Amino acid sequence: METKWIHIKEEELATEEAKKVIGQAGDIIKEGGLVAFPTETVYGLGGDALNREAAKKIYAAKGRPSDNPLIVHIADKESLKKITDRIPDSAKALMDHFWPGPLTMIFEKNDKVPVETTGGLDTVAVRFPCDDVALAFIKAAGGFVAAPSANLSGRPSPTTGAHVYEDLNGRIEMILDSGKAGIGLESTIVDLTGEIPVILRPGYITEEMLTEVLGRVENDPTILNVSEGIRPKAPGMKYRHYAPKGELTIVSGEDEAVTAYINEQIRMRKKEGCRVGVIGTKERIDRYESCVHKNIGSRRDEAAVARNLYAILREFDTEQVDYMYTESFAIDGIGQAIMNRLLKAAGHRVVEV
Ligand code: AMP
Ligand code: MG
Repeated sequence: METKWIHIKEEELATEEAKKVIGQAGDIIKEGGLVAFPTETVYGLGGDALNREAAKKIYAAKGRPSDNPLIVHIADKESLKKITDRIPDSAKALMDHFWPGPLTMIFEKNDKVPVETTGGLDTVAVRFPCDDVALAFIKAAGGFVAAPSANLSGRPSPTTGAHVYEDLNGRIEMILDSGKAGIGLESTIVDLTGEIPVILRPGYITEEMLTEVLGRVENDPTILNVSEGIRPKAPGMKYRHYAPKGELTIVSGEDEAVTAYINEQIRMRKKEGCRVGVIGTKERIDRYESCVHKNIGSRRDEAAVARNLYAILREFDTEQVDYMYTESFAIDGIGQAIMNRLLKAAGHRVVEV
């Protein structure tokens, strides 16, 4: 299959040219095909959420296990009522505050949603994104687009159209590319089907923000820990999302001690003939000995750190780095999402110095 890679700018959506492209993308979905599209979080791999064959194609294109459910993307709040018969008050409050935006909520599904979309579950994950290209595309596609991240299973989520092309060229009909994703980490997922709302995956909408609206929220115990015998409630979170080709270690402690430890490791690994890489914040990156340095952004700008993380992990794979070390981040605010993804990439390998 030939994949059409099409560049489209948010500010040019009103042009005839852009309308034509969005129309074509929508038609592909209506005919049961697949289109990757930008959202404010990461790029999504879209198919018709109400078409079981399209859902199956998404799993096949990604090489994704079929028990790992997809998120249904909608383009207005009204559409939610068509796929669930129960919208709890907690969800209404969250919708008022955070939709459209990077928040996914879990609802009981109705019969319109095939189990192929929900990985066999009787619940459905729903998100109303705020990216204008995404919204135009979802509307053109009929209003219900199932989309996991547009990466091959086991690779970091794509934050640019080029990342999608790298993974899915030849496997899908079209890529809509509008440049670098603004947030860079997948949406926050909250389960509202139980009595107490539970965060299944941390993201840009933080625990603090959710608590302010809901009063009480719990974290799935697996978010920052490896808990023997406890399965994460979001089936996808049980997979080691991304296993870097090399070995990633998170180094945590006082600044000076972290720098000293990482420098010692760089010297040792280089002596062994290995390629070494470091993920450091802007404030500290110059303190590391010579190796592959990745500046992830300022420690005072965690949004930038989130935005840069996945691209850096992909670069390390391309550059065939054997051992990688990263500074650690605080676990409040967006830091919780950053650490959740880093811990997964590191297979929970953390050194306290
Ligand atoms: P991705 O789009 O690749 O980030 O994957 C979607 C994530 O949403 C996965 O981690 C899924 O496990 C999670 N998810 C989707 N639907 C549900 C659901 N009904 N219940 C719990 N988690 C879900
Ligand atoms: Mg994913």
